[in-house]
Amino acid sequence: MITVRVPAKVNVQLGVGGLRADGFHDLANVFFAVALGDEVTASAGAPGEGVTLTCTGPDAAVVPLDGSNLAARAARLLAARHGMADPDVRLHIAKAIPVAGGMAGGSADGAAALVACDALWQLATPVATLLELAAELGSDVPFALLGGVALGRGRGEILDPLPVTGTFHWVFAVADGGLSTPAVFRECDRLREEAGTGSGDTDVATPDADPALLAALADGDAVALAGALANDLQSAALSLRPSLAATLRAGTEAGALGALVSGSGPTCAFLAKDAEAAAAVADALRASGTCRTAHATHGPVPGATVLP
Ligand code: ATP
Repeated sequence: MITVRVPAKVNVQLGVGGLRADGFHDLANVFFAVALGDEVTASAGAPGEGVTLTCTGPDAAVVPLDGSNLAARAARLLAARHGMADPDVRLHIAKAIPVAGGMAGGSADGAAALVACDALWQLATPVATLLELAAELGSDVPFALLGGVALGRGRGEILDPLPVTGTFHWVFAVADGGLSTPAVFRECDRLREEAGTGSGDTDVATPDADPALLAALADGDAVALAGALANDLQSAALSLRPSLAATLRAGTEAGALGALVSGSGPTCAFLAKDAEAAAAVADALRASGTCRTAHATHGPVPGATVLP
């Protein structure tokens, strides 16, 4: 039996280019792995049982347990790469990452299942191959393997690790219900059309990483990082879920250095000065009635890791 711990991510910068002919957007995506994470356990299944899935945690009821689950798809993909037809494996997800929350929880479970099955089946798959399989599963999966802080380009799947100093303290406010990532991108395009700027990749400049944000990460400067937090999907998430404005305000009024919607939302992320400030912001958010719950956490942390 192998258990893998895998982090959620927050995008400290999410620059969204125009809509490409292939339906994707070019991104300048600075991923940051946080300690809030899931655990995926893989154990041998009975012969002929196939891939089976169980899930526990506050959001377990909304996690799909069929073949569409990214953990199950990852197990099958890895098996196929090694010429194993119909693997028999039991996967259990202990889920702490909010579902459809903009924190790449499904992608995290996909990365964790790759690492867990690789260890269970003693395949010793090279990291480069795992990264390739991860990119096939989805654009956010490679980062969950890598962890730390990284710049994602293209659809987000071309990754370069970034230097960081020290630990940053975060609070995540979890909303009731999720937001569909494709719907948020569509709303971003719609708002750009409405504003008259156009939404195609010839209308919108190709996004690039913000040098001030990269310097803040490298220097371990939370105040500077808070000032540089940026998410081009935030106005679209707020347009689809106007109540998030009150959540962002509640965390800021409670002393957060900076606040933004995490990825496509609806989870909101708050940067705090230190662990005590983060605990206070989380308490204030829980008391504010503007979110379902709030978690104080920290990062960066490593990507999918086998637990001893
Ligand atoms: P992202 O930030 O990458 O856009 P997200 O955090 O908003 O993703 P997820 O939690 O990954 O969203 O879930 C999106 C959808 O993926 C869910 O509604 C669910 O149907 C599906 N899904 C597939 N596998 C999983 C999984 N292991 N855990 C949660 N959702 C999963």
